Amino acid sequence: MSQVSIEIPASEVERGAVSGKSNRECARTVACSYLATTANGCEMGDTGGYSLIMRRRGFLKIVAVGVTGAATGRLLARGKDEPRVVTVRGAIPASRLGQTLVHEHVLVDFVGADQINPSRYDPEEVFRVALPHFEKLKAAGGQTFVDCTPAFLGRDARLLRRLAEATGLNVLTCTGFYGAGKGKYLPAFVARETADEIALGWAREFEDGLPPDNIRPGIMKIGVDAAPLSAVDEKLVRAAARCHRRTGLAIVSHTPDGAAAMAQLEVLKAEGVEASDFIWAHAQKEKDAALHERAAKLGAWVEFDGIALETLAQHVDLVMHMKRAGQLHRVLISQDAGWYHVGEPHGGDFRGYDFLFTGFLPALRKAGASKADTRTLTVKNPRAALALRAV
Ligand SMILES: [Zn+2]
Repeated sequence: MSQVSIEIPASEVERGAVSGKSNRECARTVACSYLATTANGCEMGDTGGYSLIMRRRGFLKIVAVGVTGAATGRLLARGKDEPRVVTVRGAIPASRLGQTLVHEHVLVDFVGADQINPSRYDPEEVFRVALPHFEKLKAAGGQTFVDCTPAFLGRDARLLRRLAEATGLNVLTCTGFYGAGKGKYLPAFVARETADEIALGWAREFEDGLPPDNIRPGIMKIGVDAAPLSAVDEKLVRAAARCHRRTGLAIVSHTPDGAAAMAQLEVLKAEGVEASDFIWAHAQKEKDAALHERAAKLGAWVEFDGIALETLAQHVDLVMHMKRAGQLHRVLISQDAGWYHVGEPHGGDFRGYDFLFTGFLPALRKAGASKADTRTLTVKNPRAALALRAV
């Protein structure tokens, strides 16, 4: 039996009030988010004021002590506070992630938000097609898989959980909306809602889990078109910032060019979010390596995904450039591989997940990266990038 006390700052409670939650609800939310308990494993008893008693998984008793005034400004945890990551099977200590692929896909449907529907594919067939690729990844040494398919592009958390259960891999799903593609993958309500309302919807997915199974997302995934940011893309970035400040979820953003990455970092800064909470996905699409360095020096994660046999030399160069610049500790690598293409016979061409381990890392070693460097890229950086931030 271990106990943790948390002070919940008045600012968090105010934010809860603004977003339509009661103070008590907000206090519970903040405490649950911080402790990364599963929605079902977190019960609340009101002991007066904003004090809470929560019981997690029936054996861990947690006492969250109520509002102590704005002076503290942030949550304070005493006792065990190892960073945690939320997978489709529940929260785990970040130290258990191991070798991690930070950006992959199991299934994508590009039909558009106005037509997308899970009845467009057979989940049994997708499971059968994807499972051997998960097994191959596991055999190659992969331990954690982050699925970056957001809602309205084919997110299927139940399918991901089945794959996680069948293979023992840690699998993460996401909340967030994909603004790239000029809004084709955005539901109509995004145009009407404010950044706060959008952020609240994402935060609720994190807090309550996705219906009907209450599977919780472990990252935020958004997407923007090339700079300058459109009004709706900027709204999504603000929503991501506000959801982050409430949940601690990292923000992964599909970003077509360096200017759009810098523009997003500006918006996040104005919203009070650290660059280190932002993952610049598809950074390899920016040809000016000075921008990779600049983003890394600001503290952002620079993600070179799309690793494949055809791009091997280019990706080795990108990573080695960052090593020479002393910025390897800000680099993430992945394949952006997969996936079952909804609408194509048997899902079409499915790119496997193991090349990063079987082809890319050996090539990187040959180019001069040390064993410690590859561990930084596959274990240490993903662990730091994916761990829930204290909020
Ligand atoms: Zn992707």
